[in-house]
Amino acid sequence: MDLELLKTTLDELGEPSYRFDQVWGWTAKGVAGYAEMGNVPLRVREELEAKVPFSSLELVHQQESQIDGTIKALFHTKDGRPVEAVLMRFLDGRRSLCLSSQSGCPLTCTFCATGSMKFGRNLTTSEILDQALHFRRMSEVDHVVFMGMGEPTMNIDNVLASIHRLPDVGVTHRRTAISTVGWLPGILRMIEEPLPIRLALSLHAPEDELRSQIMPVNERYPMEDVLDACRTYADKWNRDVFIEYVMLGGVNDQVWHAHQLGRLLDPKRFKVNLIPYNPTGSIYDASERSTIQAFRETVESYGLRTTVRVNRGRDIDGACGQLAAKALSDAA
Ligand code: SF4
Repeated sequence: MDLELLKTTLDELGEPSYRFDQVWGWTAKGVAGYAEMGNVPLRVREELEAKVPFSSLELVHQQESQIDGTIKALFHTKDGRPVEAVLMRFLDGRRSLCLSSQSGCPLTCTFCATGSMKFGRNLTTSEILDQALHFRRMSEVDHVVFMGMGEPTMNIDNVLASIHRLPDVGVTHRRTAISTVGWLPGILRMIEEPLPIRLALSLHAPEDELRSQIMPVNERYPMEDVLDACRTYADKWNRDVFIEYVMLGGVNDQVWHAHQLGRLLDPKRFKVNLIPYNPTGSIYDASERSTIQAFRETVESYGLRTTVRVNRGRDIDGACGQLAAKALSDAA
């Protein structure tokens, strides 16, 4: 729902200011449409039906993983830009959303499907919230990570504005995470913001030369400057920053890379999440399981806590780094 349009429309109708909160409150709770907003007068509901589309996104396609129940949705914005979002359902009851912040991405990380598609534009606050609301209409949700299409810190104003409203949808700030490839101005902005959001940094290499090959953004914002900003963020909230590290076979997954990584990171501030690589048709192969295990043990020998991500939704191209493959073919 375009919240700016909602506000303007209610103002034009001469409605009291609490009407906006009523309509938003119902929407955030996952009602299917204006008809279900019991305390909003029928006359107002009819006007909104005619003037304010219930969602700023149109659902184009939806797929459910036969392996783990992950659901991936492809939307189009009003101007026809593809946007993908994913709902992950865990056995312990958690419902976690992976949201997009941009249609496409201007950065060109070489392992990422989104990076190979044409950049469209930043998504508006409402387009970000409407991804979450789509899934909220299916079930309650409790976690959000900005790890879908796009680099969220390049669209930080709209991302933060959407995060301000996520508690109404059921997701607290502490259960919201922004994953960045190291767009320094965005991280610095996050440091200023009084929101205890989880920060994750996609590092993917333990030194600048290799990192620049995998992620060209490193040439603009070198690793040490980005890690400095992450340390500041960790200290501000007394909360670990997650280091995301995608395991690319024969590229960044050797034991000596793990030693470099171990020496680089302070265990009091960082936690490492190793990500088995998902095939996206790029130049890379996945690491062997035994290679990942050896890498993990070496990193842990430096006192760093590590996890190995269980990829979800692989059969529907909904796993990390895979978003855009479907959007590309559908939008072509
Ligand atoms: S990894 Fe993130 S920043 Fe890099 S190209 Fe993909 S979407 Fe963009």
